Amino acid sequence: MSFSSLYFLMEDKILSVKKSFQIDLQKVKNSRDLEQLKVKYLGKKGPVQALMLDLRNLDPESRPLVGKGINILKKELADLCDQALEGYAKAEERKKLEEEKLDVTLPGNKGFLGRRHPIRIMLQEVIDILSGMGFSVQCGPEIDSDWYNFEGLNYPPDHPAREMQDTFYITEHLLLRSQTSNVQLRAMESHNPPIRIIAPGTVFRNENISARSHVFFHQVEGMYIDEDVSFADLFATMEEFWSKLFQKNVEARFRPSYFPFVEPGIEVDLRCTVCEGKGCRLCKQTGWLEVCGAGMIHPEVLKNGGIDPHKYSGYAWGLGIERLAMLRYGIHDIRMFTDNDMRLLSQF
Ligand SMILES: [Zn+2]
Repeated sequence: MSFSSLYFLMEDKILSVKKSFQIDLQKVKNSRDLEQLKVKYLGKKGPVQALMLDLRNLDPESRPLVGKGINILKKELADLCDQALEGYAKAEERKKLEEEKLDVTLPGNKGFLGRRHPIRIMLQEVIDILSGMGFSVQCGPEIDSDWYNFEGLNYPPDHPAREMQDTFYITEHLLLRSQTSNVQLRAMESHNPPIRIIAPGTVFRNENISARSHVFFHQVEGMYIDEDVSFADLFATMEEFWSKLFQKNVEARFRPSYFPFVEPGIEVDLRCTVCEGKGCRLCKQTGWLEVCGAGMIHPEVLKNGGIDPHKYSGYAWGLGIERLAMLRYGIHDIRMFTDNDMRLLSQF
C-alpha cells in the first residue's frame, strides 16, 4: 500500500489543528470562552469540518485511514472541551458557594423587639389586681343593641348619652358600645348571685378628640351582686384597689353623681399625681382627676337582669384605663396613646 503526498499533508493538517487547539485552550478564561472555542473548531465553518471536506480530494485507499484520524481528532477536541467545561462549572459553583458562605464571626443584625403598649400594661395590671381580689373576667361585644348599652340599664329615652352626637349608632337599635356596662345585664342573665365580675374592653364615644377625650378608649367595669351588698363594700373594695394599684395611699374623694343604672351614684376623684394637686393641664387646673363612676345598682336594672331586687343588692363601677395610665406615667395628652410615636412607646 502506497500513500500519496496528499495523505501526509492531511496528517500534518490534523496535527496542526490539534496543536493550535491546545494553544487556544490555554487562553480560555471561562466557560463562555470555552463554548466559543468549541464552535470555532468543531462548528460547521471550523477546521475539523474543513478536513472532512478535504477527504474528497484523497485517493480512495487513503480515505478510511485519514477519515479515522479526523474522527479521532474530533472526539479528542470534544472531550477536551467537555472536561474543561466541567472544570469551569465546578469552579464557578465553588465561587458562588464561597460568595454565599455565611461568616459567623460577622456582627449580626439587631432584631427589633416589640413592647407592650402602656394601655395594655395598665389594663393587665388592673385585671390582675381585681382577679386577685376575687373578680372573674367577663367580656362583652363591642357592637351591641340599644337594650344592653342603654335601655336595659335604665337610661331614659331622652338621656343625652343616647343622642347621635355622643354615641356611634350603626342602625336605629345597634351601636358601638359607649361603656363596658353593657356586660352587666349579660352577667346577670348568665349567673346567679353572688356575681363578682369585671368586664375590660374598648368603648366608643362620638366626641371631639382633645387632650382629655378620644373617640375610643378603654374601661374596666366592675360589678358585685349578693345579699346585703352595701356602699361600705364598695368603698372597701375601692380603697384596696387604689392602694394596690399605686402601691401607696392615694387621696381619693367621692362626690354624689348621677348614672342611670345606679342609685345612688358617686364619682371618684383621685388627687392629680402629675401636679400633686397644684393644678395642671391634665386635671384642668383643679388638682383632681375623675377616674371612676360608681354606685349601687338600680333595682330596675337588677329586675331587667332577672334578679330579685328585694333579695339582692349590688354595686357597680367603671374605670377609665387611659386616665389611670396618664396618672401612672404622667402623660398629659390622651392622644399620645394613639400617635404611635416610638419615642413614647419605646419607654415602656
Ligand atoms: Zn394636675
